Amino acid sequence: MSEASETDETRPGKFGEYGGQYVPEALMPAIEELTDAYQRYVLDNEDGFMDEFRQRLRDFGGRPIPLQRADRLSERYDREVYLKREDLLHGGAHKLNNALGQVLLAKYMGKERIVAETGAGQHGTATAMAAAHLDVPCEIYMGERDINRQRPNVFRMRLNGSEVNPVTTGRGTLKEAISETMRDWATNVEDTHYVIGSIVGPHPFPAMVRDFHSVISKEAKRQFDEQVGTQPDAVLACAGGGSNTMGAFAAFVPDESVGLYAVEAGGSSLTVDEEAGVAPNSASLSTGTEGVLHGARTKVLQDRDGQIMESHSVSSGLDYAGVGPELAHLVDTGRVHAVNVDDDAALTEFHRLSQLEGIIPALETAHAFAFLERDHESLGETVMVNVSGRGDKDLEAAIEETAKRDIDIAPDMSVFQGAMR
Ligand SMILES: *Cc1c(COP(=O)(O)O)cnc(C)c1O
Repeated sequence: MSEASETDETRPGKFGEYGGQYVPEALMPAIEELTDAYQRYVLDNEDGFMDEFRQRLRDFGGRPIPLQRADRLSERYDREVYLKREDLLHGGAHKLNNALGQVLLAKYMGKERIVAETGAGQHGTATAMAAAHLDVPCEIYMGERDINRQRPNVFRMRLNGSEVNPVTTGRGTLKEAISETMRDWATNVEDTHYVIGSIVGPHPFPAMVRDFHSVISKEAKRQFDEQVGTQPDAVLACAGGGSNTMGAFAAFVPDESVGLYAVEAGGSSLTVDEEAGVAPNSASLSTGTEGVLHGARTKVLQDRDGQIMESHSVSSGLDYAGVGPELAHLVDTGRVHAVNVDDDAALTEFHRLSQLEGIIPALETAHAFAFLERDHESLGETVMVNVSGRGDKDLEAAIEETAKRDIDIAPDMSVFQGAMR
């Protein structure tokens, strides 16, 4: 059994008032089949599913992933700072843990086709890699606007043999891509599995995706025992949908002495423009209200009429108007602290980590470091930061965003002036 906070036995898929299965009738057969498969293969290890999953995470993914002491950050903050280096997982982010688990599960279920949604393309590329590795045909839905903004990721998916289907409805971004993927799944339930990209969606996705990512905290706990001799006082992870977050927290949840901090994207401001239906942030845990999004009750950014608002973050991977129901519940119970930092702070720490530790982090990850920079004094003696991904994918965005700002520790950007718009 998983050791994270279980869903309530008598109410499957509920985390307090959150979670559930708010889906059209047409999807229920697929959801029930998946719930059954999750129980048998993931929780009960039927046919050795979990053994094969672990073996492939090792040989294809590169696990176990190092827990590294950050020497210069430790000095800067006058405490022990450790980095869980998920940026070193194959593909450059934590996302393969889940993609590999779900594509493998699809095979065990006898499915012959994979569909997935992607926003910036990170989950799409992880799914395309896993599908190529396991030889399952794969189609990825991606908003047309995102396709134009993320050409290298689109090419990565195509290189791995996946189809990329443009979604033109609405704003042509992640929200619409998820809806379109659910429609495809409902139409093709017989032979198709939907690989969802975070701990969101209807049960059993939030629990299952958490279980695939919980390898992060299980490994870290063991590494703290072996390398450090104590467990951390605080664990920090950035939170969009919240999958790297729950992965980094899961094994620590029962241990109340470990403070858990979900760091959200404060964007450019926490103030909402109700009139325009725009939240200039993605801080659904900190500022959202209860609603239903993509098949689950959770905290969402919505206006007074319950319309989902447009969200914003300098990091595309955090730019989502909802969050996993389990994380919403853990925030309400007080076990997890929801905090947020703004775009400017995240971008500054993107530069600092690169300079001090020789690690260029994803802009998503940089949010966790911005919280460390701001609030380290309240975090105890030993701190773990989950490095959810590397920043290679963000270099273009970082050039553009840095040039717009006055960041005193940034390198001289004048060399780029001619190339800037
Ligand atoms: C996708 C992504 C995230 C956000 O997703 P979560 O489900 O919130 O973990 C964070 N960091 C990186 C590097 C990502 O690629």
